[in-house]
Amino acid sequence: MIVVLKKLAADEQVDNVIKHLEDYGFAIHKSTGEEQIIIGAIGIQPDFDTRKIKILDGVSAVYKVTEQSRLASREYKKENTLIKIGNTSLGSNEIVTIAGPCAVESEEQIMAIAKIVKDAGAKILRGGAFKPRTSPYSFQGLGEEGLKLLKQAGDEFELAVITEIMDPGRVELIYKYTDIFQLGSRNMQNFPLLRELGRVDKPVMIKRGMAATIDDWLMAAEYILASGNEKVFLCERGIRTFETSTRNTFDLSAIPVIQQRSHLPVFADPSHATGIRDKVIPMARAAVAAGADGLMIEVHNNPAAAMSDGPQALLPSQFNELMDQVRKIAEVIGRKA
Ligand code: PEP
Ligand code: MN
Repeated sequence: MIVVLKKLAADEQVDNVIKHLEDYGFAIHKSTGEEQIIIGAIGIQPDFDTRKIKILDGVSAVYKVTEQSRLASREYKKENTLIKIGNTSLGSNEIVTIAGPCAVESEEQIMAIAKIVKDAGAKILRGGAFKPRTSPYSFQGLGEEGLKLLKQAGDEFELAVITEIMDPGRVELIYKYTDIFQLGSRNMQNFPLLRELGRVDKPVMIKRGMAATIDDWLMAAEYILASGNEKVFLCERGIRTFETSTRNTFDLSAIPVIQQRSHLPVFADPSHATGIRDKVIPMARAAVAAGADGLMIEVHNNPAAAMSDGPQALLPSQFNELMDQVRKIAEVIGRKA
C-alpha cells in the first residue's frame, strides 16, 4: 500500500500516520521528496480497509498495490483459466458463442431456435426458465418445464446449455438439466447463492451487476472460487449510467481490464448491454475485437411475439451474418471462432 502525504503535512501528522501503519502490522518505507512524503506500507493485507488511513490528518491519498481478490487475480495464477465445454474450452484461442432466446417459451420455439443457432456456429444454447423480471406481472419463465425443454433442445442439437439461477434452493434442480449456471446481473452479490455455486462441479458464468465495479465483480468470482469451484467465467452486460440511448452502457474496456487483472475467461453480452437489436451486431463485433473470449447473444425465430426481450433479439438472418463477421474478426486478431 502506498500512502501519499499532503504537501503541507506537519511532522506530527506524518509520525501519527506511521504509528497507525505500524500498529496495523505494516513495515514502513518512508520516502521524502522535494515537496511531498510518500510512505510505502509493506505487508500483504488484501482486506485492509484503506479508509482507516485515508481519514488521518495530513493524508492526501492511499493506493493499494496488491489485488484484493486473491484466487481470481493474475497475481495468483498467470495462465488463463480454461473451462472445457464439449469439444472447446472457454478462455482458449477459440471465441465461443452462447446464443438463444431470452426465455424458453415452448418446445416448438426452443427447438427452432436451437437449430438456427447451431447451424450458424454457436456452441452453447441459452434460455431462461426462471426469469428475473422487473415487474412481478411479467412472464416469469416456465420453471422446471423450461429446464426440461432447454436440455431436450441441447441434446437434440449437441449444444451445451446455460440457464439462470436466482435462488440458492434451486441448485439441485437446475443442476439436473444445465451444463452451465448463469448468475444474473441482479444476483451478482447474492452471497448465499455465490457460496452454493462454489460447491458445484459445473461452470458458472457471472454477469456483471448493473452497478458493480470491476472490483465488486471480481470479488463475486472470489466467493465462488473460495468455496471450491474453479470453473468461473465473467460476462460484461452493460452498466447503469446517466446515458439513456441504450438500455445500459456497454463497458467494453472492462474486457481488457479483466484480462489484465484476472485469469478468468471474459464474455460479452451486447444484447442486454444495448437492449436494441440494431446495436447488438456492431457492439458484438467490437467486443470480439477487444478480445472477449466469447459472446452471449439473444436470438429469436419470431421476436415480435417473444415473451421477453423481443426488441433486442437478433433475427436468424442477422445472427448468421454476425457469426460470419465474428469468424473474420477472429482471424484478424489471431484467434478462431
Ligand atoms: C439474461 O441473460 O437473461 C439476463 C436477465 O441478463 P442480465 O442478468 O444481464 O440482466
Ligand atoms: Mn433477456
